[in-house]
Amino acid sequence: MSRSFPILIAEDEAVSRKVMVKHLTKAGYDVTAVENGRQALEAFEERFYPFILTDWIMPEMDGLELCRAIRGKRDRGYVYLILLTHKESKDDIIVGLEAGADDYLTKPVYFVELTARINNGMRVLELERSLKKAGEEIYHLTITDSLTGTFNRRYLNEHMPDAIDQALAQTNPLSLILCDIDHFKKVNDTYGHLVGDAVLRSFARIIKDTVNDQKDWVVRYGGEEFLLVLPDMDMSGARELSEMLRQFVAQATIKASCHDINITASFGLAGLESLDNSDGATAENLLNLADENLYQAKDEGRNRVVG
Ligand code: GH3
Ligand code: MG
Ligand code: MG
Ligand code: MG
Repeated sequence: MSRSFPILIAEDEAVSRKVMVKHLTKAGYDVTAVENGRQALEAFEERFYPFILTDWIMPEMDGLELCRAIRGKRDRGYVYLILLTHKESKDDIIVGLEAGADDYLTKPVYFVELTARINNGMRVLELERSLKKAGEEIYHLTITDSLTGTFNRRYLNEHMPDAIDQALAQTNPLSLILCDIDHFKKVNDTYGHLVGDAVLRSFARIIKDTVNDQKDWVVRYGGEEFLLVLPDMDMSGARELSEMLRQFVAQATIKASCHDINITASFGLAGLESLDNSDGATAENLLNLADENLYQAKDEGRNRVVG
């Protein structure tokens, strides 16, 4: 953890405060010092401090109240709290810990001890940071298709209802494109499954490179079937995009294991505007419509856009 780490100090005694600021600034921390709990809370509202050193007895708001208030705010991450106190009785210490302090230091503060206690806190915060990162990585894995790097069905199921609600609330369009590689089974049968995988990756890459990655999402909907969810795009936009994609795919030569492979794909569209009324605006209805249109594109000879 970097040493320019922000630390907030709340201490009403001017001399103690200055000495601590001097010591911790010299140690390389980014120190902010205030005179009581209320000021500390105000500073915390303005900027997140993952580390707070607080005196116990202070005017306006004491250290215990500050600890309780900080523990009530869980939205921005864990805050490591050290309570500084003249109180040494076991009962007082328990009161301090119960208010939410992680640790306490009795005054006068010995800076070697303060540094050691801060280092302890840093280890806890580092652990929290790595847990958070692992959680984010796990979440990313749970919503991603491992072969193509697109989103998976789980992501679709989680986010599609919200995307529809948002579009309806703002009376914005929303369209879907369901696309499926034509005669993909033949690719597998001719070149083998691994080459088939490479073709799937290239197909997904063409789609991802063509859509607006700030807005649109690409989902692996089935084996060789991908769904594009296009917020703010009406059906005529979706038609244009599908036609462009159809041509990109048909013109691309995919190189996999020394083979030059050409494929085509079929496209079925659906949009909020193509549904009868807002009651019918469900993910299921949109997907069914896109699926029917894809089926029709296959039926009419493939390598085409319907919808
Ligand atoms: P159509 O034009 O009607 O879509 O014909 P198709 O051959 O593309 O469709 P079909 O549904 O008959 O075959 C899809 C094939 O996709 C069968 C399946 O083995 C293959 N497939 C599904 N997932 C994967 C995958 O992850 N890797 C590879 N290599 N093949 C896959
Ligand atoms: Mg005091
Ligand atoms: Mg297919
Ligand atoms: Mg298919």
